[in-house]
Amino acid sequence: MAMSSFVQKSNLFAFSAASCLRNDYYFNDCRLCIDVCPEGALNVVRNKLMLFETDCIECAGCIGSCPTEALTIESFDPNAYTIGFKEQEEKSLSCKKDTACLGSFDVHHLITMALRSEEPPVCDMAHCEECPINKEQKVETAIRTKIAIANDFMAKVGFEGVIETLEERPEENQRRALFRKAFDATKEVVADSSDEIAITLQNMQRIDTDVSLKYILLKNAIKEKMGAFTTTNFKEKSPLFFKKIISFDACTNCGDCVQFCPTHALIATSDKQGILFSESKCVGCGICDHICKTDAITTADGFDLVTIAYDRVEQLVHYEMVMCHECRCPYPYRGGDPICDRCSDFKKDFGGMFTLARDL
Ligand code: SF4
Ligand code: SF4
Ligand code: SF4
Repeated sequence: MAMSSFVQKSNLFAFSAASCLRNDYYFNDCRLCIDVCPEGALNVVRNKLMLFETDCIECAGCIGSCPTEALTIESFDPNAYTIGFKEQEEKSLSCKKDTACLGSFDVHHLITMALRSEEPPVCDMAHCEECPINKEQKVETAIRTKIAIANDFMAKVGFEGVIETLEERPEENQRRALFRKAFDATKEVVADSSDEIAITLQNMQRIDTDVSLKYILLKNAIKEKMGAFTTTNFKEKSPLFFKKIISFDACTNCGDCVQFCPTHALIATSDKQGILFSESKCVGCGICDHICKTDAITTADGFDLVTIAYDRVEQLVHYEMVMCHECRCPYPYRGGDPICDRCSDFKKDFGGMFTLARDL
């Protein structure tokens, strides 16, 4: 996911085409942002995502949904807000206070805020019903789904605290007072934490530019609070974390999955004879599953928070490379006659023809 200058902009809103999964792999069909956009400003043209600048109303409702943070808005940074949230006195998230549309947050932000602060955030949903952005409840549904996933995660790890929603508007005068108080508090937080945020952002970029910052924030929050979790290893699938496995018998060690993995969650071993996987970097885009010609790579059930928090790397496969006796090319040896898959298939498909020709 290299950053590039290939950015489409509509005043404050920006779409970095180089970071979009659809750009990493032609057949990727991610449409998380498209499904949220109330104006149809994000659309697919020849299988690539395009921003139709004049249609974009810069509501920021889509930006939290993008797994690779390809969408940003200049007026609000959900990562910086998440870092500063712990210090905030007022623990509500409200578009009427100091955030953009709550659609700008992802599950990762919500969990990070909840884990790092004493109180989980309260999401102000009281304005969604009448909000012009919320056409067909698309944005509201996305926000509520993220809150549900975040709460489900926290319940699973045994973390006390639930992200609640505010469904009714406070009285107008109360709201003004709340707004004033929150605005002042936010100004202080931004002033106090700007150095910390700048340092953190710099460090994050130095550590790894392939993984979205929200994943790193969540990983660090998990590491910080792990001692309080009742369980860290789970058997079931998760919408947040993805565990890949590779079948030793089916993989040909072609390296396609490694080459196309947008976050470098898959990398080759130093001797190029195996594949390593980093669970903390996988965004579950499914590119590896789709590109693998032999269906060797799949997503397994379960996830392990210790592996994720400490960036542990797992070896998925490793082969002894030997010379094929037919074509003299190196191939991953799995036992039996030293003959590569291609020559073995060729023999199977055309062996009869050669026998026939010899006997004629
Ligand atoms: S959500 Fe992100 S990766 Fe997916 S299509 Fe939109 S910009 Fe691309
Ligand atoms: S898992 Fe599939 S794509 Fe990856 S190296 Fe093996 S055969 Fe190639
Ligand atoms: S390992 Fe596969 S699913 Fe995970 S980020 Fe890489 S290509 Fe996507």
